[in-house]
Amino acid sequence: MTVKIEKDTCIGCGVCASTCPDVFELGDDGKATVISNDYSSCDVKDVAESCPVGAIIVED
Ligand code: SF4
Repeated sequence: MTVKIEKDTCIGCGVCASTCPDVFELGDDGKATVISNDYSSCDVKDVAESCPVGAIIVED
């Protein structure tokens, strides 16, 4: 499974980073970034559904 952020779509709301700080972080550009490929600490599919603009892409 891989998780990606569509940077052009992300509005930097911070939902992903606050829900799952082990995997997501807001970068210096104000957009979310994936900081770990270990997704075990949270349900990344659930986080993706929580993103208000659908910027988190989870590929199996
Ligand atoms: S939840 Fe979505 S819009 Fe908000 S910071 Fe994360 S990727 Fe960006």
